[in-house]
Amino acid sequence: MRYLVTGAPGFVGSHLCAALLKRNGTVWALDDLSKGRPERLAPLGRNLRFHFLQGSIAQRLDALAEIIETVDVIYHLAAVVGVKNYVEDPVRVVEVNVCETLALMKLAWSHGKKVVFTSTSEVYGKNNELPFTEDADRVYGPAGTDRWCYAVAKSAAEHICLGYARRGLPVVILRYFNVYGPGADSSEYGGVVSRFISQALADQPLTVHGDGNQTRSFTYINDIVRGTIAAGKRVEAEGKIFNLGSNEEISILQLARLILQLTGKKGKIIFQPYSDFYGPHYEDMRRRVPDTSAAERCLDFKARTPLREGLMKTLEWYRIRIGGGF
Ligand code: UDP
Repeated sequence: MRYLVTGAPGFVGSHLCAALLKRNGTVWALDDLSKGRPERLAPLGRNLRFHFLQGSIAQRLDALAEIIETVDVIYHLAAVVGVKNYVEDPVRVVEVNVCETLALMKLAWSHGKKVVFTSTSEVYGKNNELPFTEDADRVYGPAGTDRWCYAVAKSAAEHICLGYARRGLPVVILRYFNVYGPGADSSEYGGVVSRFISQALADQPLTVHGDGNQTRSFTYINDIVRGTIAAGKRVEAEGKIFNLGSNEEISILQLARLILQLTGKKGKIIFQPYSDFYGPHYEDMRRRVPDTSAAERCLDFKARTPLREGLMKTLEWYRIRIGGGF
């Protein structure tokens, strides 16, 4: 099978490319390298079935058209991700997540190629009827709260994808729930798991935002990759949306304590007001839990990795690479 993966040097993209190559696939990878890290792809560069094209979708339309003509499935992962990015640069969030998706979908449509689009649990916003089924309402705050630009942009991109599905293009939409694992960004633009791990390993206090009682359902990267590959294969998934997430809900404060316990560090936990970290245009959601029954039925997806086990694996990876710039 031949694949195009946009956003290949991103955290999920790099794991997906490696898994597709391992299954004897040929992978065309695209990225403008504005956020993605080429070092994540370095081990793949030696594989003769791996090809990298640098540029955004809009910049490389002609080259992409030639590649798309030859592939079986397009995995569209390229996106601006990371909460601090949403409050710092909403224009870029909309530009990449909506405009680039539209450009890609037009190409996919003109070549009749299947697309797996990776969306996010963020689209449910602050809906508090849990667990979220794929047809749940999307509940957002005011436009002046920049955080919602990501949920709105990904929702708009979902509408573009669904619109093409209605026209007859095979499209699958996946909503990822707080993915973590080796290689995730541990800077202040990354997710909380890698952030806490790097803080703990550096003997810095773990910064819990708010009261720490907000919850998430953290999902290990290998589970996410398995579900994503299944979405590219199953015909019965086409035209549908699936939650890919773990059913293990944990509060951020419990997560901080668990990470300290697993690192064996006696680090401190400090509580930080949201506004100190994100500025005034931010609002958090209290809980986030997926209903994964549709993914179980159609994709045979179940997040198999218990949080404790996934954290141990992630921790080992960071221990080895600490100081390596991740
Ligand atoms: N968070 C935190 N400390 C940090 C980073 C994040 O307490 O150093 C909190 C954040 O405010 C949110 C949760 O952890 O309540 C998850 O944040 P993340 O950025 O990983 O993803 P989100 O689910 O908000 O998109």
